[in-house]
Amino acid sequence: MDIFELTIHQLHNELKTGAVSSLEATKAMLARIESVEPHVGSFITLTPESALAEAEAADRRIASGEAHVLTGIPLALKDIFLTEGIRTTCGSRILHNFVPPYSATSWERLRDCGCVLLGKLNQDEFAMGSSNESSAFGVTRNPWDTTRIPGGSSGGSAAAIAARQATATLGTDTGGSIRQPASHCGCVGLKPTYGRVSRYGVIAYASSLDQVGPITRDVTDCAIMLGAVAGYDPRDSTSVRTPVPDYTAALTGDVKGLKIGLPKEYFITGLDRDVQESMARAIETYGRLGAEFVEISLPHTDYAVATYYLIATAEASSNLARYDGVRFGHRSPQAEGLIDMMTKSRSEGFGAEVKRRIMLGTYALSSGYYDAYYVKAQKVRTLIMGDFTRAFENVDVILTPVAPTPAFKIGEKTNDPLQMYLSDIFTIPVNLAGTCAMSVPAGFSALGLPIGLQLIGRPFGEETILRAGHAFEQATEWHTRKAEI
Ligand code: GLN
Repeated sequence: MDIFELTIHQLHNELKTGAVSSLEATKAMLARIESVEPHVGSFITLTPESALAEAEAADRRIASGEAHVLTGIPLALKDIFLTEGIRTTCGSRILHNFVPPYSATSWERLRDCGCVLLGKLNQDEFAMGSSNESSAFGVTRNPWDTTRIPGGSSGGSAAAIAARQATATLGTDTGGSIRQPASHCGCVGLKPTYGRVSRYGVIAYASSLDQVGPITRDVTDCAIMLGAVAGYDPRDSTSVRTPVPDYTAALTGDVKGLKIGLPKEYFITGLDRDVQESMARAIETYGRLGAEFVEISLPHTDYAVATYYLIATAEASSNLARYDGVRFGHRSPQAEGLIDMMTKSRSEGFGAEVKRRIMLGTYALSSGYYDAYYVKAQKVRTLIMGDFTRAFENVDVILTPVAPTPAFKIGEKTNDPLQMYLSDIFTIPVNLAGTCAMSVPAGFSALGLPIGLQLIGRPFGEETILRAGHAFEQATEWHTRKAEI
């Protein structure tokens, strides 16, 4: 098998025995990137020189017997993670020249394990989108069908896994941005519980919803990556002081007696037929493995998208106020005076979707409308959280589709923001509730497009969804299929 095909745990075994060096693995990855990148466009910035130096350092560490399972593994990061000395754009023109002076905690933790950074991955601008089409750095294409979107906003992170351009990647998820692209590209993606992973050094979109998580080839890799980045960070006041379990130890393959909730609001008419069939087959598989099913109700599901687009845009309008051309990022050369400079820098620097969200959020927070929109959305958020709390009194995990359809065509929804927003209908409630969920490959459409299934867990119940995802993976072969690119 080619080195670029290997999972983290497979490559780790090769590195440990000395069959392959990290330098060889990194070179193989860089060559793979070079050959497929013109067709996919996963990267915004490549860092080959530092990658080779990191690989050599990793090989020395392995030789000294001090290796972590991630030592020498070539990774790539969504371009939302600050990487000291390496340009970080967040997919925006306004940060096209921004080189951060410090790194995100999650990247620091991976670097301390000895990971090799191949580069920074494409994404929707400021993580606002579901298709990667709002990036200022061009579209990323779905490796399974390059006329289609890879999903978003961590589209580059998922496409790079599907196209074998990195062994694992990190993304972020505010309303589905890890799970939806993972589903569309046939990868595993996990959004941890809010507070599980530090957000320090992750460019903020909607701070009460944003969370960091891995996109990987399989569930074992996902458990390894989560274990490396999770845990309390004094630099993020919302990170929680809960011990980090050994997530790989949770992968027992045993789901006998596991109670799986099937929310009736998620299996709606209008759901794509191929998605419906994949879900039915997944339920059958779990049945064979000894799981039990409970029909549940999450009655406020209908209000989730509206609630999300009030809260997320309100927080975004506040977070994005810092891009004013004064301290960092794009500054308009045409401007006269301070106000003109700020206005022109922001007008030139932000794309259309980001501007739309800043306006929506500013409106929702404005004095006359604050109670009617923002405060009301917060109340509905509480109701949505309550739906999940009640459901988890009777079940261990909740099974749903990740997205209502497989990956759509590039350009299909760009003129219809509402249609784009609705593609996150099954992922958004999880962020509002603050709990964890993952996407696991669960089938293919008639056109050969990957379909993911979503497993939602209790707050800090990552071990349970990983166990359930792993058992499913063991019983099926979806994750072994490869995109022909
Ligand atoms: N698609 C959703 C949005 O546009 C979610 C994005 C995300 O999770 N970052 O806001």
